[in-house]
Amino acid sequence: MIHRLDLRPEAKGVGMTSQRARDRMVERLREQGIRDERVLNVMRALPRHAFIDEALASRAYEDTALPIGKAQTISQPWVVARMTEALIEQGMPATVLEIGTGSGYQTAVLASLGIRVFTVERIEELLRTARPRFRTLNLHELIRSKHADGNLGWAENGPFDAILLTCAAPMLVQPLLAQLNDPGVLISPVGTEAGKQKLLRVAKREGRSLEQDLGPVSFVPLLPGVL
Ligand code: SAH
Repeated sequence: MIHRLDLRPEAKGVGMTSQRARDRMVERLREQGIRDERVLNVMRALPRHAFIDEALASRAYEDTALPIGKAQTISQPWVVARMTEALIEQGMPATVLEIGTGSGYQTAVLASLGIRVFTVERIEELLRTARPRFRTLNLHELIRSKHADGNLGWAENGPFDAILLTCAAPMLVQPLLAQLNDPGVLISPVGTEAGKQKLLRVAKREGRSLEQDLGPVSFVPLLPGVL
């Protein structure tokens, strides 16, 4: 099910934030190897410019990460597309745990696919900015968010069909793997140095975990504690 987006006029955008700008972004994603039409359709519909500061809105559909304050960034569209594709490739999960809400864009992409998303963010101010966006887009019923250290996951709502980290962990986070369903899939950037991180997919099946390297990525770090 693709969730119907309820767009207010200000979310619809004009010029650099128009439907045409989003169409061009999607064509670029296709050229860069994104194949899943469900992902492409959702990213064609979702206003990425509504997830960043107005001053940067004209750059919303460039294939680049952009600052969202507090030294954090909204992930680059290609990375969001690649991670989402990897997450749903083996079947659409009913529930996803996301670590690192940030702007809320990745959260909204997942909810737009009809997935129930549990998202955890350690910086309260970012969460406070992200939440009204979910409501504006009429996605709030599919999204639960909390201000906490994502290293611990969200055990009360687990196990989850899928887990996605939008920040880089030094290594796979074991407490999160423990909250993953069997079968289930976890997508995590791993590595400490920017430029030397890799995107890992761990598929859990019949008690065994299969690890796959999806290639080099660059993410802000997974940090301990809350702000
Ligand atoms: N998906 C987001 C990515 C934001 S960047 C977007 O596209 O906007 C990654 C986010 O992970 C940051 O907001 C950062 O604060 C958060 N983060 C880092 N360590 C965390 C932790 N331990 N628990 C929860 N969130 C964390």
